[in-house]
Amino acid sequence: MPSSSKLGTIPVRLNPNRHTALNTVDFIPERNILMPSSKGYAAQSAESPLVPHAFSRRDPGATELTIDILFCGVCHSDLHMARNEWGNAPYPFVPGHEIVGRVSAVGHAVTKFKAGDIAAVGVIIDSCRHCLPCGRGEEHFCAEGATLTYAAKDRVDGSMTMGGYSNNYVVDERFAHTVPANLDLAAVAPLLCAGITTYSPLRHWGAGPGKKVGIVGLGGLGHMALKFAHSFGAHVVQFTTNARKREDAIKLGADEVVVSTDPTQMNAHKASFDFILDCVSAPHKLDDYLPLLKQDSTLALVGLPPEPPSFAPFNLIGGRKSIAGSMIGGMPETQAMLDYCGEHNIVSEVEVIPIQQINVAFERMLKQDVKYRFVIDMSSLA
Ligand code: NAP
Ligand code: ZN
Ligand code: ZN
Repeated sequence: MPSSSKLGTIPVRLNPNRHTALNTVDFIPERNILMPSSKGYAAQSAESPLVPHAFSRRDPGATELTIDILFCGVCHSDLHMARNEWGNAPYPFVPGHEIVGRVSAVGHAVTKFKAGDIAAVGVIIDSCRHCLPCGRGEEHFCAEGATLTYAAKDRVDGSMTMGGYSNNYVVDERFAHTVPANLDLAAVAPLLCAGITTYSPLRHWGAGPGKKVGIVGLGGLGHMALKFAHSFGAHVVQFTTNARKREDAIKLGADEVVVSTDPTQMNAHKASFDFILDCVSAPHKLDDYLPLLKQDSTLALVGLPPEPPSFAPFNLIGGRKSIAGSMIGGMPETQAMLDYCGEHNIVSEVEVIPIQQINVAFERMLKQDVKYRFVIDMSSLA
Protein backbone atom coordinates (compact mmCIF):
# COMPACT_ATOMS: atom_id res chain seq x y z
CA MET A 1 0.00 0.00 0.00
CA PRO A 2 1.65 3.31 -1.02
CA SER A 3 2.20 5.90 1.73
CA SER A 4 4.45 8.89 2.33
CA SER A 5 7.94 8.31 3.71
CA LYS A 6 10.87 10.03 5.35
CA LEU A 7 12.06 10.67 1.82
CA GLY A 8 9.00 12.84 1.33
CA THR A 9 7.98 12.64 -2.29
CA ILE A 10 9.19 9.08 -2.97
CA PRO A 11 6.27 6.69 -2.67
CA VAL A 12 6.81 3.82 -0.27
CA ARG A 13 5.28 0.48 -0.90
CA LEU A 14 4.97 -1.92 2.00
CA ASN A 15 3.23 -4.62 0.01
CA PRO A 16 5.87 -7.23 -0.91
CA ASN A 17 4.02 -7.95 -4.15
CA ARG A 18 5.58 -4.76 -5.45
CA HIS A 19 5.43 -5.28 -9.17
CA THR A 20 1.75 -4.74 -9.63
CA ALA A 21 1.40 -1.01 -10.06
CA LEU A 22 4.33 1.05 -8.80
CA ASN A 23 6.09 2.94 -11.54
CA THR A 24 8.61 4.94 -9.52
CA VAL A 25 11.52 4.26 -7.18
CA ASP A 26 10.75 1.82 -4.36
CA PHE A 27 11.95 2.31 -0.82
CA ILE A 28 12.25 -0.63 1.58
CA PRO A 29 12.25 0.77 5.13
CA GLU A 30 13.65 -2.38 6.77
CA ARG A 31 16.66 -2.51 4.42
CA ASN A 32 16.95 1.27 4.09
CA ILE A 33 17.75 1.08 0.42
CA LEU A 34 16.45 2.57 -2.76
CA MET A 35 15.91 0.10 -5.55
CA PRO A 36 16.89 1.02 -9.10
CA SER A 37 13.91 1.73 -11.30
CA SER A 38 13.48 -0.63 -14.23
CA LYS A 39 11.55 -0.58 -17.43
CA GLY A 40 10.72 -3.29 -19.86
CA TYR A 41 7.90 -4.95 -21.76
CA ALA A 42 5.30 -7.08 -19.99
CA ALA A 43 2.26 -9.17 -20.77
CA GLN A 44 -0.61 -7.94 -18.61
CA SER A 45 -2.71 -11.05 -19.27
CA ALA A 46 -2.61 -14.22 -21.36
CA GLU A 47 -4.54 -12.47 -24.12
CA SER A 48 -2.79 -9.09 -24.20
CA PRO A 49 0.29 -8.17 -26.24
CA LEU A 50 3.50 -7.13 -24.50
CA VAL A 51 3.42 -3.44 -23.60
CA PRO A 52 5.87 -1.02 -21.89
CA HIS A 53 5.99 -1.62 -18.15
CA ALA A 54 7.87 0.13 -15.34
CA PHE A 55 8.84 -1.61 -12.12
CA SER A 56 11.75 -1.73 -9.66
CA ARG A 57 14.49 -4.12 -8.65
CA ARG A 58 16.40 -4.28 -5.38
CA ASP A 59 19.94 -2.94 -4.98
CA PRO A 60 22.60 -5.62 -5.31
CA GLY A 61 23.44 -7.38 -2.03
CA ALA A 62 27.01 -8.20 -0.97
CA THR A 63 27.52 -10.95 -3.55
CA GLU A 64 25.20 -9.52 -6.21
CA LEU A 65 25.63 -7.37 -9.28
CA THR A 66 23.42 -5.09 -11.32
CA ILE A 67 23.61 -5.65 -15.06
CA ASP A 68 22.54 -3.09 -17.65
CA ILE A 69 21.06 -5.39 -20.29
CA LEU A 70 22.42 -5.04 -23.83
CA PHE A 71 20.72 -8.00 -25.53
CA CYS A 72 18.05 -10.54 -24.63
CA GLY A 73 17.12 -13.57 -26.72
CA VAL A 74 13.50 -14.53 -27.42
CA CYS A 75 12.87 -18.13 -26.34
CA HIS A 76 9.69 -20.04 -27.18
CA SER A 77 9.30 -20.52 -23.41
CA ASP A 78 8.78 -16.73 -23.17
CA LEU A 79 5.82 -17.08 -25.51
CA HIS A 80 4.43 -20.22 -23.78
CA MET A 81 4.55 -18.33 -20.47
CA ALA A 82 3.28 -14.93 -21.70
CA ARG A 83 0.21 -16.70 -23.08
CA ASN A 84 -0.15 -18.89 -19.98
CA GLU A 85 0.14 -22.07 -22.05
CA TRP A 86 1.62 -23.93 -19.08
CA GLY A 87 -1.09 -22.60 -16.74
CA ASN A 88 1.16 -20.92 -14.14
CA ALA A 89 1.84 -17.41 -15.44
CA PRO A 90 1.72 -14.44 -13.04
CA TYR A 91 0.89 -10.99 -14.44
CA PRO A 92 2.30 -8.52 -15.18
CA PHE A 93 4.89 -10.83 -16.70
CA VAL A 94 8.24 -9.58 -18.07
CA PRO A 95 9.77 -12.40 -20.18
CA GLY A 96 13.42 -12.96 -21.09
CA HIS A 97 16.06 -15.39 -19.84
CA GLU A 98 18.81 -15.10 -22.42
CA ILE A 99 20.53 -12.03 -21.03
CA VAL A 100 23.83 -10.38 -21.91
CA GLY A 101 24.75 -7.03 -20.41
CA ARG A 102 27.32 -4.76 -18.83
CA VAL A 103 27.86 -4.77 -15.07
CA SER A 104 26.94 -1.37 -13.63
CA ALA A 105 27.26 -2.06 -9.88
CA VAL A 106 28.68 -4.80 -7.67
CA GLY A 107 28.25 -5.69 -3.99
CA HIS A 108 31.37 -5.48 -1.82
CA ALA A 109 31.93 -9.27 -1.73
CA VAL A 110 31.70 -9.86 -5.48
CA THR A 111 34.92 -11.40 -6.82
CA LYS A 112 34.08 -12.54 -10.36
CA PHE A 113 32.97 -9.20 -11.84
CA LYS A 114 33.69 -5.50 -11.64
CA ALA A 115 31.74 -2.56 -13.03
CA GLY A 116 32.14 -2.38 -16.80
CA ASP A 117 32.52 -6.16 -17.32
CA ILE A 118 30.22 -8.13 -19.60
CA ALA A 119 28.03 -10.65 -17.77
CA ALA A 120 25.41 -13.15 -18.92
CA VAL A 121 22.40 -14.65 -17.14
CA GLY A 122 20.24 -17.59 -18.16
CA VAL A 123 17.10 -19.30 -16.93
CA ILE A 124 17.79 -19.47 -13.19
CA ILE A 125 19.03 -16.76 -10.82
CA ASP A 126 19.10 -18.51 -7.44
CA SER A 127 18.73 -21.83 -5.62
CA CYS A 128 19.04 -23.14 -2.04
CA ARG A 129 22.82 -23.60 -2.49
CA HIS A 130 23.07 -26.39 0.13
CA CYS A 131 21.22 -29.43 -1.24
CA LEU A 132 22.96 -32.30 -3.01
CA PRO A 133 22.30 -31.08 -6.60
CA CYS A 134 23.37 -27.52 -5.68
CA GLY A 135 26.56 -28.94 -4.16
CA ARG A 136 27.24 -30.73 -7.43
CA GLY A 137 26.71 -27.53 -9.44
CA GLU A 138 23.35 -28.76 -10.70
CA GLU A 139 21.46 -25.79 -9.32
CA HIS A 140 18.75 -26.25 -11.95
CA PHE A 141 17.81 -29.49 -10.14
CA CYS A 142 17.84 -27.83 -6.69
CA ALA A 143 15.90 -30.02 -4.24
CA GLU A 144 14.15 -26.92 -2.87
CA GLY A 145 13.43 -25.53 -6.34
CA ALA A 146 15.63 -23.16 -8.31
CA THR A 147 14.49 -19.55 -8.67
CA LEU A 148 13.69 -18.82 -12.29
CA THR A 149 14.75 -15.56 -13.95
CA TYR A 150 11.10 -14.66 -14.43
CA ALA A 151 7.75 -15.54 -12.90
CA ALA A 152 9.25 -16.94 -9.69
CA LYS A 153 9.32 -15.85 -6.06
CA ASP A 154 12.61 -14.10 -5.36
CA ARG A 155 14.45 -15.75 -2.45
CA VAL A 156 15.71 -12.40 -1.07
CA ASP A 157 12.65 -10.18 -0.91
CA GLY A 158 9.75 -12.42 -1.94
CA SER A 159 8.90 -10.34 -4.99
CA MET A 160 8.06 -11.83 -8.38
CA THR A 161 11.13 -12.12 -10.60
CA MET A 162 10.95 -10.06 -13.79
CA GLY A 163 12.87 -11.17 -16.88
CA GLY A 164 15.31 -9.67 -19.32
CA TYR A 165 12.99 -7.85 -21.73
CA SER A 166 14.06 -4.90 -19.61
CA ASN A 167 16.90 -2.47 -19.00
CA ASN A 168 18.58 -4.10 -16.01
CA TYR A 169 18.85 -7.20 -13.80
CA VAL A 170 20.10 -7.85 -10.27
CA VAL A 171 21.65 -11.28 -9.72
CA ASP A 172 24.06 -13.13 -7.44
CA GLU A 173 27.44 -13.66 -9.07
CA ARG A 174 27.07 -17.45 -8.73
CA PHE A 175 24.28 -17.24 -11.31
CA ALA A 176 26.06 -14.85 -13.70
CA HIS A 177 28.57 -15.96 -16.31
CA THR A 178 31.58 -14.48 -18.02
CA VAL A 179 31.50 -14.21 -21.81
CA PRO A 180 34.46 -15.03 -24.09
CA ALA A 181 35.75 -11.77 -25.54
CA ASN A 182 35.85 -13.04 -29.13
CA LEU A 183 32.10 -13.62 -29.47
CA ASP A 184 29.42 -11.26 -30.81
CA LEU A 185 27.27 -10.28 -27.84
CA ALA A 186 23.89 -10.32 -29.62
CA ALA A 187 24.62 -13.82 -30.92
CA VAL A 188 25.81 -14.97 -27.47
CA ALA A 189 22.49 -14.16 -25.75
CA PRO A 190 20.63 -17.30 -26.98
CA LEU A 191 23.44 -19.51 -25.64
CA LEU A 192 22.13 -18.77 -22.15
CA CYS A 193 19.02 -20.92 -22.76
CA ALA A 194 18.95 -22.47 -26.24
CA GLY A 195 22.69 -23.14 -25.98
CA ILE A 196 22.93 -24.82 -22.59
CA THR A 197 19.60 -26.65 -23.01
CA THR A 198 21.04 -28.52 -26.00
CA TYR A 199 24.73 -28.68 -25.00
CA SER A 200 23.92 -30.43 -21.72
CA PRO A 201 21.92 -33.44 -23.02
CA LEU A 202 24.27 -33.89 -26.00
CA ARG A 203 27.18 -34.13 -23.52
CA HIS A 204 25.20 -36.30 -21.09
CA TRP A 205 24.21 -38.87 -23.73
CA GLY A 206 27.65 -38.84 -25.31
CA ALA A 207 27.10 -37.26 -28.73
CA GLY A 208 30.47 -37.56 -30.42
CA PRO A 209 32.54 -39.44 -32.97
CA GLY A 210 30.99 -42.74 -34.06
CA LYS A 211 27.51 -41.75 -32.85
CA LYS A 212 24.50 -41.07 -35.06
CA VAL A 213 22.48 -38.26 -33.51
CA GLY A 214 19.10 -36.89 -34.60
CA ILE A 215 17.87 -33.36 -33.87
CA VAL A 216 14.12 -32.84 -34.19
CA GLY A 217 12.98 -29.30 -35.11
CA LEU A 218 15.20 -26.61 -36.60
CA GLY A 219 14.28 -23.66 -34.40
CA GLY A 220 16.12 -21.74 -31.68
CA LEU A 221 17.06 -24.83 -29.65
CA GLY A 222 17.32 -27.11 -32.68
CA HIS A 223 19.87 -25.02 -34.55
CA MET A 224 22.10 -24.82 -31.48
CA ALA A 225 21.76 -28.60 -30.99
CA LEU A 226 22.80 -29.07 -34.59
CA LYS A 227 25.85 -26.84 -34.20
CA PHE A 228 26.95 -28.57 -30.99
CA ALA A 229 26.37 -32.14 -32.18
CA HIS A 230 28.35 -31.38 -35.35
CA SER A 231 31.12 -29.73 -33.35
CA PHE A 232 31.30 -32.74 -30.97
CA GLY A 233 31.99 -34.95 -34.01
CA ALA A 234 28.73 -36.91 -34.24
CA HIS A 235 27.04 -37.87 -37.51
CA VAL A 236 24.08 -35.49 -37.32
CA VAL A 237 20.68 -35.90 -38.94
CA GLN A 238 18.37 -32.88 -38.79
CA PHE A 239 14.64 -33.62 -38.80
CA THR A 240 12.40 -30.79 -39.96
CA THR A 241 8.80 -30.38 -41.06
CA ASN A 242 9.95 -27.74 -43.52
CA ALA A 243 11.80 -28.88 -46.65
CA ARG A 244 12.88 -25.28 -47.29
CA LYS A 245 15.19 -25.48 -44.27
CA ARG A 246 17.32 -28.24 -45.88
CA GLU A 247 20.03 -25.95 -47.21
CA ASP A 248 20.35 -24.04 -43.93
CA ALA A 249 20.57 -27.29 -41.98
CA ILE A 250 23.48 -28.46 -44.13
CA LYS A 251 25.23 -25.12 -43.69
CA LEU A 252 24.74 -25.35 -39.91
CA GLY A 253 26.40 -28.77 -39.78
CA ALA A 254 23.87 -31.47 -40.68
CA ASP A 255 25.28 -34.54 -42.42
CA GLU A 256 21.75 -35.46 -43.55
CA VAL A 257 18.37 -33.76 -43.49
CA VAL A 258 15.08 -35.66 -43.18
CA VAL A 259 11.70 -34.09 -43.85
CA SER A 260 9.75 -35.72 -41.05
CA THR A 261 6.41 -35.65 -42.89
CA ASP A 262 7.79 -37.98 -45.58
CA PRO A 263 7.45 -41.64 -44.43
CA THR A 264 9.93 -42.88 -47.06
CA GLN A 265 12.66 -40.57 -45.75
CA MET A 266 11.83 -41.55 -42.16
CA ASN A 267 11.83 -45.32 -42.84
CA ALA A 268 15.27 -45.10 -44.42
CA HIS A 269 16.66 -44.39 -40.91
CA LYS A 270 14.93 -47.25 -39.04
CA ALA A 271 16.79 -48.55 -35.94
CA SER A 272 19.91 -46.51 -36.68
CA PHE A 273 20.15 -43.69 -34.11
CA ASP A 274 22.23 -43.71 -30.92
CA PHE A 275 20.43 -40.63 -29.62
CA ILE A 276 17.64 -38.27 -30.68
CA LEU A 277 17.10 -34.81 -29.16
CA ASP A 278 13.56 -33.50 -29.57
CA CYS A 279 13.44 -29.68 -29.64
CA VAL A 280 9.85 -29.20 -30.85
CA SER A 281 7.55 -26.60 -29.27
CA ALA A 282 4.20 -28.01 -30.48
CA PRO A 283 2.41 -31.36 -30.20
CA HIS A 284 3.83 -34.03 -32.53
CA LYS A 285 4.05 -37.82 -32.68
CA LEU A 286 6.91 -39.42 -30.75
CA ASP A 287 5.89 -42.70 -32.43
CA ASP A 288 7.38 -41.32 -35.65
CA TYR A 289 10.83 -41.22 -34.02
CA LEU A 290 10.98 -44.17 -31.58
CA PRO A 291 11.34 -46.80 -34.37
CA LEU A 292 14.41 -44.88 -35.59
CA LEU A 293 16.35 -45.58 -32.35
CA LYS A 294 18.80 -48.47 -32.05
CA GLN A 295 18.36 -50.98 -29.22
CA ASP A 296 18.94 -49.42 -25.76
CA SER A 297 19.01 -45.91 -27.17
CA THR A 298 17.29 -42.74 -25.95
CA LEU A 299 15.03 -40.04 -27.27
CA ALA A 300 15.39 -37.01 -24.96
CA LEU A 301 12.78 -34.28 -24.84
CA VAL A 302 13.76 -30.69 -24.30
CA GLY A 303 10.79 -29.17 -26.12
CA LEU A 304 7.84 -28.37 -23.87
CA PRO A 305 4.58 -28.38 -25.84
CA PRO A 306 1.70 -27.50 -23.54
CA GLU A 307 -0.11 -30.79 -24.28
CA PRO A 308 1.47 -33.98 -22.87
CA PRO A 309 2.98 -36.23 -25.55
CA SER A 310 1.54 -39.66 -26.24
CA PHE A 311 3.31 -42.73 -27.59
CA ALA A 312 2.70 -46.43 -28.02
CA PRO A 313 4.56 -48.49 -25.37
CA PHE A 314 5.11 -51.13 -28.09
CA ASN A 315 7.56 -48.70 -29.66
CA LEU A 316 9.67 -48.71 -26.48
CA ILE A 317 9.61 -52.35 -25.32
CA GLY A 318 11.06 -53.80 -28.51
CA GLY A 319 14.67 -52.70 -28.22
CA ARG A 320 14.44 -51.54 -24.57
CA LYS A 321 14.36 -47.90 -25.67
CA SER A 322 14.06 -44.85 -23.40
CA ILE A 323 12.23 -41.56 -23.49
CA ALA A 324 14.03 -39.05 -21.28
CA GLY A 325 14.04 -35.32 -20.59
CA SER A 326 16.56 -32.60 -19.92
CA MET A 327 16.35 -29.06 -18.60
CA ILE A 328 18.89 -26.25 -19.17
CA GLY A 329 22.12 -26.93 -17.19
CA GLY A 330 23.86 -26.06 -13.93
CA MET A 331 26.08 -23.03 -13.46
CA PRO A 332 29.47 -24.78 -13.98
CA GLU A 333 28.21 -26.50 -17.15
CA THR A 334 26.73 -23.24 -18.46
CA GLN A 335 30.11 -21.55 -18.03
CA ALA A 336 31.83 -24.55 -19.64
CA MET A 337 29.43 -24.26 -22.59
CA LEU A 338 30.19 -20.54 -23.00
CA ASP A 339 33.94 -21.22 -22.81
CA TYR A 340 33.56 -24.03 -25.36
CA CYS A 341 31.72 -21.61 -27.66
CA GLY A 342 34.55 -19.12 -27.27
CA GLU A 343 37.16 -21.77 -28.15
CA HIS A 344 35.19 -23.08 -31.13
CA ASN A 345 33.67 -19.78 -32.26
CA ILE A 346 30.09 -21.00 -31.86
CA VAL A 347 27.21 -18.55 -31.53
CA SER A 348 23.54 -18.46 -32.42
CA GLU A 349 22.14 -17.37 -35.80
CA VAL A 350 20.20 -14.27 -34.85
CA GLU A 351 17.81 -11.66 -36.15
CA VAL A 352 18.24 -8.58 -33.97
CA ILE A 353 15.05 -6.59 -33.36
CA PRO A 354 14.06 -3.48 -31.41
CA ILE A 355 11.81 -4.28 -28.47
CA GLN A 356 8.92 -2.50 -30.16
CA GLN A 357 8.75 -5.46 -32.59
CA ILE A 358 8.41 -8.13 -29.92
CA ASN A 359 4.73 -8.89 -30.59
CA VAL A 360 5.41 -9.35 -34.31
CA ALA A 361 8.38 -11.55 -33.39
CA PHE A 362 6.15 -13.79 -31.24
CA GLU A 363 3.76 -14.27 -34.16
CA ARG A 364 6.62 -14.99 -36.55
CA MET A 365 8.06 -17.54 -34.11
CA LEU A 366 4.72 -19.35 -34.11
CA LYS A 367 4.87 -19.50 -37.92
CA GLN A 368 8.44 -20.86 -37.72
CA ASP A 369 9.53 -17.71 -39.53
CA VAL A 370 12.77 -16.99 -37.69
CA LYS A 371 16.38 -17.72 -38.62
CA TYR A 372 16.95 -18.92 -35.97
CA ARG A 373 16.60 -16.78 -32.87
CA PHE A 374 15.22 -13.29 -32.34
CA VAL A 375 17.39 -11.18 -30.07
CA ILE A 376 16.19 -7.86 -28.67
CA ASP A 377 18.63 -4.95 -28.83
CA MET A 378 17.84 -3.37 -25.51
CA SER A 379 19.17 0.05 -26.53
CA SER A 380 15.80 0.33 -28.33
CA LEU A 381 14.16 0.73 -24.88
CA ALA A 382 15.82 4.09 -24.29
P1 NAP B 1 11.23 -22.43 -31.77
O1 NAP B 1 12.40 -21.58 -32.10
O2 NAP B 1 9.87 -21.91 -32.02
O3 NAP B 1 11.45 -23.83 -32.52
C1 NAP B 1 10.53 -24.88 -32.44
C2 NAP B 1 10.65 -25.76 -33.67
O4 NAP B 1 9.75 -26.83 -33.53
C3 NAP B 1 10.26 -25.09 -34.98
O5 NAP B 1 11.29 -24.37 -35.57
C4 NAP B 1 9.82 -26.26 -35.83
O6 NAP B 1 10.94 -26.86 -36.47
C5 NAP B 1 9.30 -27.25 -34.81
N1 NAP B 1 7.82 -27.22 -34.81
C6 NAP B 1 7.03 -26.19 -34.52
N2 NAP B 1 5.74 -26.53 -34.61
C7 NAP B 1 5.72 -27.83 -34.97
C8 NAP B 1 4.70 -28.80 -35.20
N3 NAP B 1 3.41 -28.44 -35.10
N4 NAP B 1 5.07 -30.05 -35.53
C9 NAP B 1 6.36 -30.41 -35.64
N5 NAP B 1 7.37 -29.53 -35.44
C10 NAP B 1 7.05 -28.28 -35.11
O7 NAP B 1 11.25 -22.82 -30.21
P2 NAP B 1 12.53 -22.95 -29.22
O8 NAP B 1 12.76 -21.64 -28.57
O9 NAP B 1 13.60 -23.66 -29.89
O10 NAP B 1 11.90 -23.87 -28.07
C11 NAP B 1 11.49 -25.20 -28.37
C12 NAP B 1 10.80 -25.80 -27.16
O11 NAP B 1 11.77 -26.02 -26.12
C13 NAP B 1 9.73 -24.91 -26.53
O12 NAP B 1 8.63 -25.73 -26.18
C14 NAP B 1 10.41 -24.35 -25.31
O13 NAP B 1 9.51 -23.99 -24.30
C15 NAP B 1 11.26 -25.52 -24.90
N6 NAP B 1 12.41 -25.19 -24.04
C16 NAP B 1 12.79 -26.11 -23.13
C17 NAP B 1 13.91 -25.89 -22.35
C18 NAP B 1 14.38 -26.92 -21.39
O14 NAP B 1 15.13 -26.60 -20.45
N7 NAP B 1 14.00 -28.17 -21.58
C19 NAP B 1 14.62 -24.69 -22.48
C20 NAP B 1 14.22 -23.79 -23.45
C21 NAP B 1 13.11 -24.03 -24.23
P3 NAP B 1 10.87 -27.28 -38.05
O15 NAP B 1 10.34 -26.07 -38.78
O16 NAP B 1 12.27 -27.59 -38.38
O17 NAP B 1 9.94 -28.46 -38.13
ZN1 ZN C 1 14.42 -20.53 -22.84
ZN1 ZN D 1 19.51 -26.63 -3.81
